[in-house]
Amino acid sequence: MERIHVTVRARPLSPEDEKTSPWRISGNSIFIPNHSTKFEFDQIFGEECKTINVYQARTKDIVQAAVRGFNGTVFAYGQTNSGKTHTMRGSGTEPGVIPLAVHDLFQIIQQDVDREFLLRMSYMEIYNEEINDLLVPEHRKLQIHESLERGIYVAGLREEIVASPEQVLDLMQFGESRRHIGETNMNLYSSRSHTIFRMIIESRDRSEDEDSCTSCDAVRVSVLNLVDLAGSERAAKTGAEGVRLKEGSHINKSLMTLGTVIKKLSEGAESQGGHVPYRDSKLTRILQPALGGNANTAIICNITLAQIHADETKSSLQFASRAL
Ligand code: ADP
Ligand code: MG
Repeated sequence: MERIHVTVRARPLSPEDEKTSPWRISGNSIFIPNHSTKFEFDQIFGEECKTINVYQARTKDIVQAAVRGFNGTVFAYGQTNSGKTHTMRGSGTEPGVIPLAVHDLFQIIQQDVDREFLLRMSYMEIYNEEINDLLVPEHRKLQIHESLERGIYVAGLREEIVASPEQVLDLMQFGESRRHIGETNMNLYSSRSHTIFRMIIESRDRSEDEDSCTSCDAVRVSVLNLVDLAGSERAAKTGAEGVRLKEGSHINKSLMTLGTVIKKLSEGAESQGGHVPYRDSKLTRILQPALGGNANTAIICNITLAQIHADETKSSLQFASRAL
């Protein structure tokens, strides 16, 4: 596996925030002057940056690699209101990483004359360790299975065949509209749920005919996961207080496990035959095929520079730096 790429994105201060910030950004470092708090990342984007810049930092490469057959996963991590959904889905007039990736994906495959492609999309959420299909609202509490043929998969999850970026984005919109949550509860809900947008990319070499296929590379299947994580404030609080995780509590088990999995991967545990606890949460289990092995992984750590959120921002940066 390649190293996990970590980008930090600071959102613009809200009108209600104080106009002074304790944080300073200089190149790839972010720090509080005269304080021991200092972090370095692959790239740090300040308040004036656009989502397209964040996308081009690493996600674009991951999309291109996915077309070539390499699985990829990009996470947006951060406390509630730090700009995860703005970054992934987009808001206002700014398209997010997902629409940017989808447009790129279709463009790349249209230009590839040697291969024939079939694209499918899935859209799911994990809420209280339950997997729900956002494309088929009746499909709730889905189970994770594993077979020789399919590997690890979510049984019953809809994989819709898609033929254009517009169709993908319409389906996403549909998924969102079916969540049945009032505007006022949306923040609370999204702070507790993980949303996984997935493209499954299947391709076949046009020069090989199916029966004479001897080299396995003639048919390739890869997945690209773009993940809008639950608000990190819960994981941070739990960690700080050392509370033990219990099934059914409001504590976000998936986020805690993700931290451990990412740390293990960045330490090279998998290639050294060590244990990576993918099975400890639904999120990491679902994403397992697109995290270890040959997969490409990136984290976009969304933060706010506001004074009142300094502790929360510090723990987000701590989480992200464990992945390096
Ligand atoms: P999260 O998903 O992390 O809870 P959101 O993406 O919903 O946070 O962002 C909270 C609010 O701040 C939204 O109204 C969003 O439009 C706005 N916002 C976040 N990041 C930016 C940004 N970089 N530029 C402009 N508005 C932003
Ligand atoms: Mg959100």
